[in-house]
Order: sequence, then C-alpha cells, then structure tokens
Amino acid sequence: MPTANHFDTIIVGGRPAGATLAARLGQQGFRVLLVERATFPCPHPASSPVIYSSAMRLLDEVGGDENVYAYNTPRIHRWVNEFYDQYCTTIPVPAAFGRDYGYALDRARFDDALWNNAARWPTVTARQPFTVTDVLWDANRVVGIQGHSPGQPAETFTADCVVGADGRFSTVARKVKAGIHNIRTDFPTTVYYAGWRLAQPYDDRGAAVHFCQPGKGYFFFLFDSADGVLNVSVEGRSDLFTSWAGHGEAAYMKLVRQHPLIWRRLAHAERVTRVHGMRNIGNVYRVASGPGWVLVGDALHQKDPIDGQGIYDALFEAKALAQAITAWKHGEQSYEQAMAGYEMAARAEMYPMYMETLRQVKRTVFSRSPLWLDKLLFRSIGADAELNHRYALLTVRALAPAEFLSPMLVFRAFVRALRMRHFRGPGVLRAKNRRGRDIAEFPRHMPPATD
Ligand SMILES: Cc1cc2nc3c(=O)[nH]c(=O)nc-3n(C[C@H](O)[C@H](O)[C@H](O)COP(=O)(O)OP(=O)(O)OC[C@H]3O[C@@H](n4cnc5c(N)ncnc54)[C@H](O)[C@@H]3O)c2cc1C
Repeated sequence: MPTANHFDTIIVGGRPAGATLAARLGQQGFRVLLVERATFPCPHPASSPVIYSSAMRLLDEVGGDENVYAYNTPRIHRWVNEFYDQYCTTIPVPAAFGRDYGYALDRARFDDALWNNAARWPTVTARQPFTVTDVLWDANRVVGIQGHSPGQPAETFTADCVVGADGRFSTVARKVKAGIHNIRTDFPTTVYYAGWRLAQPYDDRGAAVHFCQPGKGYFFFLFDSADGVLNVSVEGRSDLFTSWAGHGEAAYMKLVRQHPLIWRRLAHAERVTRVHGMRNIGNVYRVASGPGWVLVGDALHQKDPIDGQGIYDALFEAKALAQAITAWKHGEQSYEQAMAGYEMAARAEMYPMYMETLRQVKRTVFSRSPLWLDKLLFRSIGADAELNHRYALLTVRALAPAEFLSPMLVFRAFVRALRMRHFRGPGVLRAKNRRGRDIAEFPRHMPPATD
C-alpha cells in the first residue's frame, strides 16, 4: 500500500542521469523521490562539458528547454585541432538529429535546468540538499534509503526500486557492493579546468572547440561557453602531470602559461573560477542491477572525458532504464527481465564507444611512437578530410564506432597523403595534390607569446 514515505522509485543523484530519469518517470505518472546532496544552482560545477545534438535530442524528449539550459551560450559549429604547433585543421560539427552545433555548457546552469525540469512533474518529489548515507534492506533486497538534510535528523524512505544516479563515487553502488568489470587501469589521466573571461577569441569566425596538443602526453581543450567565459582544460597522463607540473592550481597555471598557443588567448584574460580537476580518472563498468537496486549514468559506467560522451551516455541510459521500469511496473516484464533488458540496451550503445574512447586516450596521450612518427601520422592521416568527417560523425554519435576506422580507410588516407604536397603561404600551409589542386588548408596560428 502506498504511504507518504513510499515511492515507486527513489533516485539518488539529480544531475543528467537522475534528473532526466525522474522526468521520464514523472511523465508516466510514477511516484518518484529524487534526492540530491548538492543545492542547485551548484557553485562547484561537476565538469566543464560539451554536448552535441545526440544529447540535445534526448533532452528534447524530456522537455529540456535549450533556451534555458544553454542560455546565453554560443552555438559551436566547429572543432579546431592544432597539433604540435605545426598544423591546424578545422572540422565542421556535422548535421545530425536535427542540429549542426553543440554547446560548451555552463554546468551549474545546465544541472539547475535539469533539476527544475524534473521537479515540475506532480508525481516527482525533489529534495535538495539531501545526502543518502545508506540503503535499507529487507532480507537480501534493497527497499529504501536513509539520509538527511544538513543539520537535520536522519530520515528513511522506501520504494519498489532504488536507483543510484549518484555519479562515479556512487554511495548506492558502494552500499550494495556492486561488482565491477571491464576495468581499464592502463590509461589513467588527470584533468584540470577553469573558466576565463576576456580571453582572446580563437579567430573572428565564431565559437569553437579548440583542441591543442603541444607535446606528447597531454593536450588542452578551450571551449567558448556561457556569458563570455572560455573554459580551458588540460588533460594528460597522470604520471607525467606529477613529474612535470605537480598538482592542482599550480600545475594548471604552469601548463597554460608555458604554451604560446594557449597563453596567446589568456594573457590578457581573467580567471573567474577556481581550478577544478580530477586525478587518475577511471575507466570502469559496474554491474547494473540487483534485487531492488539499479545503477545509471556514471554510477554504472565511467570513462575518460576526452571525447565528451559522458552526458549523452547518462541521458541514454536514463531513457533505457525508464523504459525498463515502465515495462516492469506495467506487468509486461518481471523485475529481473526488465533489468536484464536495461543492462543489454545500455551495453549495446555504450560499450563500443567505451572501447573507442580508450583507443582515443591511447592514441592521444599514451602513444609510444617517437614524436617524429606522431607528427608524420598527423600530417598524413590526421588532416585527411574523409577521416575527419568520420570522426565528427562518431563524436555526435551519428556513426557507430565499428564503422569509424578500417584498415582500408587508413590505407586510402595514406595514399591521398602521399599525393599531397605542402606549400607555405602567408599565414597558411596548403596541401595540394599532384595536379596542384588544394586538398586541405591549415591556417597557422603562431602569434608571438605575450605576457
Ligand atoms: C573533467 C571532466 C570533463 C568532462 N567533460 C565532459 C564533456 O565535455 N561532455 C560530456 O558529455 N561529459 C563530460 N564529462 C562527464 C560528465 O560530467 C558525466 O558523465 C556526467 O556528469 C554523468 O552524469 P550523472 O548524472 O551520471 O552523474 P553526476 O553528474 O556525477 O551526478 C551525480 C549526482 O549525485 C549526487 N550524489 C552523489 N552521492 C550522493 C549521495 N550520497 N546522496 C545524494 N546525492 C548524491 C552528486 O551530488 C551529483 O549531483 C566530464 C567529466 C569530467 C570529470
């Protein structure tokens, strides 16, 4: 029998996975308790993310309003990739799922919008700040949660199902002792990021995701974000960070100052946030569900942020889980069948991309080839228009990882590269084919470093 403290589903964690799952279940009229230990808008953003049309399509489905979550945020139509201060290629964000742009979000604004969107459903009870400290058991089944608001006595709530949408350090996963699998400990990376105001634009052609790899083992991402803020992050091999730069703010500032390609944009800018970061980012899956509990989003599956897929994955998994819970609650499937179906659906969509993400981390920061070979490969293959377009489609999830690269595609790119000749012009480096026709153009951006 329903009571005031009993719900169909309790969701722990109210960001992309939890808030959109709550909205989907609220749309169906299920009684949901959504709890979150932070208070939105949260002054300590969980990351500095970019999202693409794949994620925005899922947000549309739950009533996420782009004018709210991306308020005053420029649309990003291109990636600009600079490698080893030699070459630069521009790749347009391809049209897919009805949009040809992405956003570098203000994460505090985004999470707040998702929370408010979930809380508007009449059957969703949204509690913040509320920290879950334990799960409740009946024999070997999870039947609820225990937690508290700051300074308040503990409260308990029960539900037919408890969802851990509480991120990579999931309390729910820890309390139910969720097993782990497909763990990869061979590519540990560290990321630091901060927001800057009055930074120099990349050029006069509008907002961009600016990727810059100035050396082996690490790279920068600079994103034009909301309210004129430029998000600047640096990611690299954890061991190199420690030995080169140390940790935290000092390491971050040392690295951004050290590189003319980065510092040219920041020399006259003001840092407007603290330096946030994460050390030894993990790549791991957890077992998805057990009696009375289930995991979603980063709690289920976490990986390196190099290709910006975490939010899409969390939104997709939330959709798959909402479908599973609906089938179970409507009596179409048993709990076990529904949860097995959820795990299969999530794995089919995520696992190939998880492996592709790891390959990207390996290629980009853990490459063991000599530097000259990395440069040669970029010059010949990294600038290939067809491969770049395929990479763009992969990133917006319009191309399956299995279709991304094949030996034949790489071979064809090599053949095209052999036919290229390079010419330096004023401010540009051109690649031409044997007949002298332009194949690609690489604007060179090497302004003098300023301080
Ligand atoms: C440096 C960095 C950069 C990233 N860049 C990108 C990017 O460009 N694009 C992209 O798509 N993804 C990116 N990601 C990944 C993305 O941030 C995550 O994949 C995404 O936030 C996962 O959403 P989630 O809802 O599963 O978990 P989270 O966003 O981690 O939310 C979990 C929530 O649970 C709450 N919680 C935890 N424990 C409790 C508890 N005991 N009680 C109550 N509440 C609790 C937390 O407060 C938190 O609000 C990046 C990640 C990092 C670290």
